[in-house]
Amino acid sequence: TSAKARPSQPSNPETRDHPCYSAEAHHHFARLHLAVAPGCNIQCNYCNRKYDCANESRPGVVSERLTPEQGLRKAVAVANRVPELSVLGIAGPGDALHDWRRTFRTLELIRQELPHLTLCLATNGLSLPDHVDGLIELGVKHVTITINAIDPEVGAAIHPWVAFGGRRHSGRAGAEILIERQLAGLDALVAQGALVKVNSVLVPGINDQHLSAVNAEVRGRGAFLHNVMPLISDPAHGTHFGLTGQRGPTNAELAEVRDRLGEDARLMRHCRQCRADAVGRLGEDRGAEFALDSLPETPE
Ligand code: SF4
Ligand code: SF4
Repeated sequence: TSAKARPSQPSNPETRDHPCYSAEAHHHFARLHLAVAPGCNIQCNYCNRKYDCANESRPGVVSERLTPEQGLRKAVAVANRVPELSVLGIAGPGDALHDWRRTFRTLELIRQELPHLTLCLATNGLSLPDHVDGLIELGVKHVTITINAIDPEVGAAIHPWVAFGGRRHSGRAGAEILIERQLAGLDALVAQGALVKVNSVLVPGINDQHLSAVNAEVRGRGAFLHNVMPLISDPAHGTHFGLTGQRGPTNAELAEVRDRLGEDARLMRHCRQCRADAVGRLGEDRGAEFALDSLPETPE
């Protein structure tokens, strides 16, 4: 991408070694995403489950679906070979909090075996209010929530349904539940001292005029960073948006929306839209080196 790192974030001991939360750290430290979360509880028009969750990732090669134990094996192997590894994240390929037991089990194993790693997680936010206490107990202090809209009309155009309370809620009603839960999760995390990054997928003609309102809302509630990401829409990927001809933004449109949010918008400009199984420094993907079948049977 053409996005250049701008060291605009204040120096903060909590972010110094997290490549996503600090534009400076991203030159020096590496992150590993473990793809242990296959299921999801909402539908995004840009999603294709053959690929990783667009919460934190771009369509790429299908991730390996790892069990928590396989995830640990991979993390140990990576930690041994990538000394600058500082962050372990769970970001898909579905929603990290839908199959929350798998995610929590993985985080627990990592915390026991690799206690020096910073743990982080990305979610669509629907289940977040139920798990904030559990995450904080596990030491997860960096959470990304994808919030594409705070107006249910806009949200419904991006998320056709959400599954909540044992049934599917479609259209505006579903989007209302999603937004309410996302903002409640954000508030609860901020109240417990976590650093929250909000991702918004910019969908031209749908939420481009609305992202200033999203930015003001999440900043007002204490979000640490706001990351406006371009929709990647391609009929070849089979996303609903791709099939309806919805295009992604041009670079100029993306820059225009980001600039409109202004200097104090706490924008993240160095996000690389990593795959859910990314390994290495930002912009670098060494995932292929660590495919499961190339790892030693027992942790090194
Ligand atoms: Fe797909 Fe992620 Fe949206 Fe779930 S939250 S539908 S996995 S893009
Ligand atoms: Fe960081 Fe963006 Fe990659 Fe997530 S997708 S690890 S926020 S650079």
